[in-house]
Amino acid sequence: MIVDLRTILTAPRHFDFILEPDWWQGNEEDDQILGLDSPLTVQINISRAGSKYVLEGRLSGRLRLRCGRCLEPFYNDFKTGFKLFLSLPPSDSEKSELDLLEEDMSVDFILGDEIDLDAVVREQIYFSLPIKSLCREDCSGLCTSCGANLNKEKCKCRRETGHPGFSELKNLKFKKG
Ligand SMILES: [Zn+2]
Ligand SMILES: [Zn+2]
Repeated sequence: MIVDLRTILTAPRHFDFILEPDWWQGNEEDDQILGLDSPLTVQINISRAGSKYVLEGRLSGRLRLRCGRCLEPFYNDFKTGFKLFLSLPPSDSEKSELDLLEEDMSVDFILGDEIDLDAVVREQIYFSLPIKSLCREDCSGLCTSCGANLNKEKCKCRRETGHPGFSELKNLKFKKG
């Protein structure tokens, strides 16, 4: 949803909308989020504070994620709140004055006087997740030798030779002694 920021005057404006699961477009650099598993509920208030805009929002829905350890897909009920301060890019005449002021967060989703709320939502979804999401806290991950999912099976690597890292150590001791 595109909002013309010139329509935000003194009173805040409220935007409520639902994004359907097919709205999500993955990002090539990220393979953690596989998609939305339910419609995403978005509530955003935009108000003006001097030359800045304040966005306060809430998102909730269900994400389909890939576990960072065992790589299996799993579902995550997801709820997040956020607050952002945005400034419009300065006009050329204002630029020299602004150089002296503290820098505002860089803003990719403002184009001219318009803000793309979908882009804000997408970014907040990424921000709300840890670098690696896990299907469960004690996920055992994959065997580094054979790739078996250790949540589901005990692979032969461990059963027969112990941990692959230790067997080399054993050989080393044997040679020395
Ligand atoms: Zn896992
Ligand atoms: Zn193995």
